Formats: sequence, C-alpha cells, structure tokens
Amino acid sequence: MREKVLVLGGGFGGLTAALRVKRALGQDADVTVVSAADRFLYTPSLARLPFGRRRPEELGFPLAPTLWMREVRFAQATVTAIDPAARLVRTTAGEHPYDHLVVATGCRDDLAALPGLAEADGAWSVTTLEGALRAGEGWRAFLDDPGPVVVGAAQGACCPGLARAFLAALTAELRRAGLRERTPIAYVTAGGERRLAAALERQGVQAVTGAVMTEAAPGKLRLADGTTLAYAYAMIVPPSAGQDVVRAVPGLTDARGFVPVLDTCRSRAHPGLYAVGTATGPGAGPHATAQARVAAVNIAAAIRGEPPAAYRPGLAVPAPPRSRAAGALFEKYYLWKARHGYVRLP
Ligand SMILES: Cc1cc2nc3c(=O)[nH]c(=O)nc-3n(C[C@H](O)[C@H](O)[C@H](O)COP(=O)(O)OP(=O)(O)OC[C@H]3O[C@@H](n4cnc5c(N)ncnc54)[C@H](O)[C@@H]3O)c2cc1C
Repeated sequence: MREKVLVLGGGFGGLTAALRVKRALGQDADVTVVSAADRFLYTPSLARLPFGRRRPEELGFPLAPTLWMREVRFAQATVTAIDPAARLVRTTAGEHPYDHLVVATGCRDDLAALPGLAEADGAWSVTTLEGALRAGEGWRAFLDDPGPVVVGAAQGACCPGLARAFLAALTAELRRAGLRERTPIAYVTAGGERRLAAALERQGVQAVTGAVMTEAAPGKLRLADGTTLAYAYAMIVPPSAGQDVVRAVPGLTDARGFVPVLDTCRSRAHPGLYAVGTATGPGAGPHATAQARVAAVNIAAAIRGEPPAAYRPGLAVPAPPRSRAAGALFEKYYLWKARHGYVRLP
C-alpha cells in the first residue's frame, strides 16, 4: 500500500513540502495538495501592488500544472475539518484520508484584535491580494487629497518586515508624485528597531517603536501610551492568528491558533501531523520553506523507519533583498523556480 501524504495549503510551505516529499518517496507515496486558492501567491510583492507597479496576475501561477508535472495531485477546496484521531480531512469538495499530514495553511488577519481597523476609513492592509487591491484604490484617492501617512505593523503581525517594505515603496511613490516634502509620515512598529528608527528619523520619518496599537478610527490610530496619530492614508499590518479550521482541532494549537511543533516540525500533540510556515506562528518565507523541507524529509524518514532530522533556523535562505531592482529580480527568479517545481534550488 502506498502511503498517503496530504498537504494543506499551496503557499511557500505547502508547495515546497509536497514537491520535496514526492521527490523523496516517488512511487512509494501518493501526495495530494488541498488549497483554497488555485494559485501560488508571491506575497512579498503585494507591498508594491497598490502603486500599480505589479499586476495581480504577475504575482503567482496556477498550482495544478506545477503539481501534476511532478505527479502530485491537486484539489482546490477549503478545508473544513481536520480529524487527527481518524486521520481524515474534510473539505468543501470531499474527504481525504491520510497517513501523514502537513498543515501549511498560513495565518489570517485577526482584525478583532485591533478594534476599528476593519471599518476605519483610509486605513488599509496589504496582507491579501484583495486587501492590496483595495489599498490601491485608497492610494489613488489619497493622491487627489493628500495628507499625513501612517505605516505600521501591529503587535503580533504575521510579517513585521512588511511594514518596512511598504514604507520604502510608498516613500518612493510620494517622491515620484512630488508629494514627499509636504507629507508627514509616521512609522509605527511593536519592535524595538532602534537603528532603523534612527535611520528613518534622518529621512524625515517619525519612527514610533515599541508601540502597542489599541484602536483604529477613521483618520486616527491610537496607541496604548495615549498617543494618537492622524492619517489621510494608513497601511497597518494587522495582528495575525492561525486559521480557524486549525484552531478548531482539540489540543492542536496555542491560544492564537498557531501549531506548536517540535524541531522535527511534527506537532507536539499529534504524531503523523506536521506543521510548517506561518501556521506555526509569524515568520518569513524562507522559514516556511526550510520547515517544509524538514517536514518532507521527516515524513520520508518515518516511512522508512529512519530517525528524524531537526530544523535548524540556519537552514533558511536569506530573506528577499530590499532594493527595488534586486527585489524584482528575486521575485522573477523565485516564481520561475517555484512554477517549474525546482524547490531544491536556493
Ligand atoms: C504582504 C506580505 C508580504 C510579505 N513579504 C515577505 C518578504 O518580503 N519576505 C519574506 O521572507 N516573507 C514575507 N512575507 C511572509 C511570507 O509571505 C510568509 O512567511 C509565507 O507566506 C508563509 O508561507 P506559508 O506556506 O506558511 O503560508 P501561505 O503562503 O500564506 O500559504 C497558505 C496557503 O494555505 C491555503 N489555505 C489557507 N486556509 C485554507 C483552508 N482552510 N483550506 C485550504 N487551504 C487553505 C491558502 O490558500 C494558501 O495556499 C510576507 C507576507 C505577506 C502577507
């Protein structure tokens, strides 16, 4: 009997895990990916989408051809329940029994954790394609009626570096529009980042570090220390949480819905269940792919009766470069290698 490996999610972690485990096990395993989205999405470039520097279709590729080419099955469906005791996953398009499961469903915006953000006029987020498109509409309205700008990452944000990348893109666009000199910008982050703060202050950006955001209201962002920052346009990376369907599994997650894993990327609670990427907590893309590689290796090891390998953070490749030209080049390279299934390349 061939082992059934089921991978939930078709992002950085899920795609890598599926292709790596299939490569390791070949005909010894049936590997299936279930993903709500039918496309891989290169999230780092969402920060440039609102400014019209990228088109949505440039930021990804359809998952099915890439997976089929490597003999991995693909089901576009939303996971509705995970039952580790029965080793069964239910989806909107049927059930999938499994022997080994990789949870790579990423995280979601936890809008309830920052009251008012969902409704605040002029405050946007770019953590999803839809959000980035809306942020673009807001940006075009802002250009007609400019004012102060706030860019920030709330405490518990999925990818704190995103606010920094967005700030760089936004500053360049303000310069292009001839608005930089008369636009006050505040950068708000929960982290310490003292050197960054000093560098930003030199560029005329008010840096508010170690901040706890408490409420977003139309045109105003309130912080725990009583500060209120006014904005005409804001991009706030919201707090994040694990996906509800993962959080619903008894004993699998922490209070925020993230899956605690051993250094083998296996769940602490359920043998046969691995979790990678932002399903395990906030983190960057290279962390997700490095964890995915370890999960794949360890599923193969479990099937062959070999000892598992441990995840070492040093395994992660460096984060994508920040400069615009280098970032664009890296985006092209990453999409090329992922689309062709060359997930073993750095
Ligand atoms: C806007 C943005 C910019 C970023 N920029 C950078 C950067 O510059 N550098 C960097 O290193 N990192 C960056 N990151 C972080 C990086 O995107 C994450 O670390 C990475 O996406 C995590 O990969 P993942 O596979 O865990 O999750 P994801 O890539 O989010 O993939 C999750 C997958 O699960 C699927 N899914 C979710 N729920 C379900 C369900 N119920 N049923 C079925 N499928 C489901 C989704 O459709 C998706 O395919 C950024 C993140 C964002 C949001």
